[in-house]
Amino acid sequence: MIREYKLSELDFFPLLNPPEKQETCSNHYFVFKDRKILLISGEGDLRLPSACNITSFKIDIQRKQYLGEFGGFSCFAAETIDDLTENKSVVFEDIRKLPGIIGETVAAIAGRAVHLLEWDKNTLYCGHCGSGTLWKSDERAKECTECGLLFFPKISPAIIVMIEKDNKILMARSPHFPPNRYGLIAGFVEPGESIEEAVVREVIEEVGIRIRGISYFGSQPWPYPDSLMIAFTAKYLEGEIRFNDGEIEEADWFSYDEIPHLPGNTSISGKLVEHFISGQRIRSI
Ligand SMILES: [Zn+2]
Repeated sequence: MIREYKLSELDFFPLLNPPEKQETCSNHYFVFKDRKILLISGEGDLRLPSACNITSFKIDIQRKQYLGEFGGFSCFAAETIDDLTENKSVVFEDIRKLPGIIGETVAAIAGRAVHLLEWDKNTLYCGHCGSGTLWKSDERAKECTECGLLFFPKISPAIIVMIEKDNKILMARSPHFPPNRYGLIAGFVEPGESIEEAVVREVIEEVGIRIRGISYFGSQPWPYPDSLMIAFTAKYLEGEIRFNDGEIEEADWFSYDEIPHLPGNTSISGKLVEHFISGQRIRSI
C-alpha cells in the first residue's frame, strides 16, 4: 500500500528558521544517503521519518538544514552515512521513484531538499579566495568569511521543447539512450541569452531545423543536480533534420500512436507528450 500525503502544493512554505517549539514526532525528515532517500516502512506503507524515528532508530544525522513548513509541520533536509542494513524498518529509495510512492508534492520537497544539500556541500569554501563560508541568518545564502562573496543556491535553467509538424512531434535519440528510447529536444540556457533564444538555438544545434510559435508550457525543478526545466511547445517552420554536434544520433516525426517510448508522466517531458497525445485523441474522435 502507498501512503498518499493528500495536501495541496500550497501547504509547503519555505522558511529559514525553525520554530523554537515543535512537535518532534510529527515533523518530516528528508534524509539522504548517496542521493537515495530514507523512508520508514511499517504497517504496509512507506513514509518519511520524524525526529522521533531518527532518535529511536539511532540514525546518524549530518548536515541538517531546515526547509520550512509542510502541512503545518517542520521539514528538514539531512544526510546520513549509515547504511542501516540491519534495520528492517528502513529503506532507501531512488528519489525519482518518489512521486509514485508518496505523491508529487512530497517528491517536490524531496527534490528541494537534495538540491539544497548538494549546494551546501559544494559551497563549504569560497570559490574566489578559498576561505570558509558561513550561513547567512536573513536569507538562504552563504557568505565568505574573508572576502564577503555571497553564494546563493545555484539553479541552472534548461529548456525542453515539443515541436509539432502535421500532427506529429519531433523526438530524438541521444547515443547514451537505451534502445528504443526517444526524447524531446532539451538543453541548458547559455549566459546572455533569453530562454526563448535558447529554445531556437538548441533546436538548430541538435536537429538543424527552424521553428516558429514558441509558447510557454510549464516548468519543473529537476534537482539532478540543480536544473530548472522550462518547457515549451513550438511549430515546425523550415529545414531538413540533420545532426551536427554528436548529441543526437537519430530523430524523426511521430504521430500520437507511433511514439516509441512515453516518458513518465511525472516529468515535464512526459506532461508535454501527454498533452500532445490527448489533443490528438480529441481530434480523432
Ligand atoms: Zn572569499
